[in-house]
Amino acid sequence: MTAPVIIVGGGLAGLVAATELAKKQVHVVIVDQENEANLGGQAFWSLGGIFCVNSSNQRFLGIKDSRELAMQDWFNSARFDREDDFWPKKWAEAFVNFATDHMETYVKNAGISFANVGWAERGDGSATGHGNSVPRFHLTWGTGPAVLEAFEKPVREAAKKGIVDFKFRHRVDELIVDESTGAAIGVRGHILEPSDTARGVASSRETIDTFELYGSNIVITSGGIGGNVDMVKKNWPVDRLGPHVPKSFVVGVPAHVDGRMIDIAQEAGANVINSDRMWHYTEGLHNWNSIWPQHGIRVLPGPSSLWLDATGSRLPAFLFPGCDTLATLKHICSTGYDYTWFILDQTIISREFGLSGSEQNPDVTNKSILGMLWRIFGSSPTGPVQAFMKHGEDFVVESSLSDLVAGMNRLAKERDGPQLDVEDVRREINLRDMQFENQYSKDAQVMLIQNARNYPTEKRGRVAKPHKILDPKHGPLIAVRMNLLTRKSLGGLQTDLDSNVLRPDGTPFPNLYAAGEVAGFGGGGVHGYSSLEGTFLGGCIFSGRAAGLKVAEQVG
Ligand SMILES: Cc1cc2nc3c(=O)[nH]c(=O)nc-3n(C[C@H](O)[C@H](O)[C@H](O)COP(=O)(O)OP(=O)(O)OC[C@H]3O[C@@H](n4cnc5c(N)ncnc54)[C@H](O)[C@@H]3O)c2cc1C
Repeated sequence: MTAPVIIVGGGLAGLVAATELAKKQVHVVIVDQENEANLGGQAFWSLGGIFCVNSSNQRFLGIKDSRELAMQDWFNSARFDREDDFWPKKWAEAFVNFATDHMETYVKNAGISFANVGWAERGDGSATGHGNSVPRFHLTWGTGPAVLEAFEKPVREAAKKGIVDFKFRHRVDELIVDESTGAAIGVRGHILEPSDTARGVASSRETIDTFELYGSNIVITSGGIGGNVDMVKKNWPVDRLGPHVPKSFVVGVPAHVDGRMIDIAQEAGANVINSDRMWHYTEGLHNWNSIWPQHGIRVLPGPSSLWLDATGSRLPAFLFPGCDTLATLKHICSTGYDYTWFILDQTIISREFGLSGSEQNPDVTNKSILGMLWRIFGSSPTGPVQAFMKHGEDFVVESSLSDLVAGMNRLAKERDGPQLDVEDVRREINLRDMQFENQYSKDAQVMLIQNARNYPTEKRGRVAKPHKILDPKHGPLIAVRMNLLTRKSLGGLQTDLDSNVLRPDGTPFPNLYAAGEVAGFGGGGVHGYSSLEGTFLGGCIFSGRAAGLKVAEQVG
């Protein structure tokens, strides 16, 4: 029997690679540091948004999208500007082509269907800049667990036939490289003590033994660095997002997203690029019901909330909710504080507050049509949003503005932030509200709201009817302290279009492949500086597939 292919990491990218290999009857061993309950990694927790271009769902909703438009959007967002971007650029082009020609068919053949097409990263207000010109965030019916199931099922079936083996609680600490050929031939590491922790809960790192496994090829699919705040801080690009590394974050991924394999691969001779490119959010909440350490939940905001920095000044155009994640992050960092304020009301929160994560969207995750209809046509916030309003430490809900600002000042104190004056806050809200006298306005956020309502799906379910925040009919008033939330790595192991890892001199590292977040979702940074969203699951699928196909060809 030939040596198996070893896949390090049983997340989405690993499962997609394993699915392709199993189709060709190639023996695979999936090695993962977590227990079986965690199979699938981050994808289980995801909202299941997948980037597709000119899909049948978009056409059904009247969205005119095209390869050319998506390519423009991608490259205008990525702003590739380094020598190291040679492979990332090739990946970007290949990914947009795949998202246009094959993604929809590939995932639908795997059993995935879409509930809706949302408009994420609406952009920086210009045709030549960052952002999606049209809605492209294809929300999977069943969210992350349904994405996972599509690839977990074939892998488990292959396991029943002996084509796939799992080695859970096996933590890889080293790649074994043949000295004479320079090829990757195996992995070495520690067996962690058994753990029955539930999915997502941080598990023990006590070791009970060592192991060595040899394989024909090694595929690294170990995820990014978002669960390792020290590593995020170490890689923080102060030159771009400075002037200081932010002090505090909430954490948007489980603890196993620890980034260790990146250093391990680098030590073995792999090239790591674009480590300073990351994708962290600016609308993070402390989870009142945490699963993993410092667990944060990202708010997926509609466009209407007033966004103030910690000093009480409104964020400038075009830093509006849901528009330009990294430009907003940069602006927040420039204030010297690591939190901001959303000011809104009951009407806005009911229509516009979504929370990212499968467990925060039980209606879509459980494929409840009734639940979805309730969300779209109902007039109150979703159950999980209501729970945050009640228990979340970042929420202030009050009927008068003076009580609201008093509550905000209590929360600001916890972070050594400035105390706000109620009259200053009232002035900012009034300036906004006065722009709602007419159907038209000079205010870019008001234009954004009107524009969003031209997309019927948004008008129906996602954007509140324009109104004044201080109008008591829409109360109570709500203030939300928004924290910085770690999530994704945009850089990583450099790979060619076959997902073959490259060495610093640009030559292929024999028998070593990488896919998913550890490879910057392909090439070591397919997104460049910025993402269009839905491109992470999509990136795991595309790069995991590329690795699986190439390795199968190699050993077949
Ligand atoms: C709440 C949430 C919402 C999201 N929503 C979306 C969305 O809607 N759309 C989108 O595109 N993306 C979304 N994402 C991002 C996306 O889910 C992830 O980027 C993607 O799933 C990463 O998959 P992966 O296979 O690369 O890595 P992971 O899922 O991180 O899996 C890596 C696996 O490798 C294992 N591992 C790591 N190191 C070792 C080692 N040394 N030895 C052995 N095993 C190891 C880990 O235990 C883990 O199981 C979301 C993420 C989260 C957390």
